[in-house]
Amino acid sequence: MPEQSSDLARLAGSAVSARRVMEETFRFVSVPSPTGAEAEFATLYASALESLGLETALDEEFDNSPSVVARLRGSGGGPTLQLDGHSDTVPIPHGECSIDLEHNVVRGRGAADMKGGLAAICEALRALEEAGVRPRGDVLVTVHGLHEAPLGDQRTLRSLLRRGIAGDAAVIAELGHDHLATASRGMSIFRIEVRGSRTPVHEVELRTRDSNPIAAVRLLLDRLEEKAAVLEAGAEDAIGPETVFVGQVRSGDFYNRVPVGAEIVGTRRYRPPTAMGDVDKELRVLCEEAAARTGLEVSLSLQEVGPAYSLEPSEPVIEALCRGYWDAVGRELPLGAAGAVGNAADFVAHGVPAVYHGVNQETAHSDDEQVSGSDLARAARVLAATVVHFCGAERGRAS
Ligand SMILES: [Zn+2]
Repeated sequence: MPEQSSDLARLAGSAVSARRVMEETFRFVSVPSPTGAEAEFATLYASALESLGLETALDEEFDNSPSVVARLRGSGGGPTLQLDGHSDTVPIPHGECSIDLEHNVVRGRGAADMKGGLAAICEALRALEEAGVRPRGDVLVTVHGLHEAPLGDQRTLRSLLRRGIAGDAAVIAELGHDHLATASRGMSIFRIEVRGSRTPVHEVELRTRDSNPIAAVRLLLDRLEEKAAVLEAGAEDAIGPETVFVGQVRSGDFYNRVPVGAEIVGTRRYRPPTAMGDVDKELRVLCEEAAARTGLEVSLSLQEVGPAYSLEPSEPVIEALCRGYWDAVGRELPLGAAGAVGNAADFVAHGVPAVYHGVNQETAHSDDEQVSGSDLARAARVLAATVVHFCGAERGRAS
């Protein structure tokens, strides 16, 4: 009788070493990779995968930010699972990195976000090999830079996806350590510009109070506030309500000069099935009203950070991750939604169902970024078990 996949998942999980994955995380955080300068770390990560027997290549489309693309060949007959992550960290200085085996912690920029998750990918693959558990489908590992905003804009990942470098489903090895996001709001940054006269004039030269660009700003802020109140009274499920948020208002340069223009910048978050086009129409109506009332030119530009998405609960990758979590942790992984816009939206937009599972990231971007060995080991066990359930597996070795 063939072995149950849960037996194989637990077998692989038992080969995970917390100490080893801590040491690898420490090696990874010791090579800095701020956004836009990930080449040295990408080379290190590629060599780690190569030593695990994966067919590994550096995709050099973007200077200084090569992507790592590596494949573990399955024995055949199963779907391909993509394990994905970003190689860059926020470019914020951090104290010296350290590893403390006694206290079970690795510190350094990227420890939580997300070199710990990248080390967990390696450990998961190593554990499968050591346990003699061979996936039937392939495991595709992709790691890319240019992720962290504002310099990062996901062009590396989007290029891979456009070129069809993708699995049948993906697990992104960050976020989601305690829940499984099956949906997320989309988010666009909006910028409303008001243009008045070409040069600033003395306030006594103002023709009507309405022709001051600040009058248009006042009207727009009122309308945006009304809109926000309506939206926020909406959904109370895990995805969260739609929102309009104003983060920047700029106008004027002197107390008694009529400003030549004004600018309002903020975010608009939206639930599936609302798309950027719907938001564009809705904000354009406000701009047209402000233009008609003030006689000023009011223009809108929108930049989508990520679309809204939701996955069918029956997606095989959801079931694989839930079963893998159960095997590795002995508890159910609750379903929920992602709070922030992450790369799952990019995958789903390209037709690849994607979920998150990594280490606890509560210290991400902080001055004391850290990850615990037990958390790293848990993430590695869950990833290994998810591979078994998604790709199928049997006893055997790749070599
Ligand atoms: Zn991250």
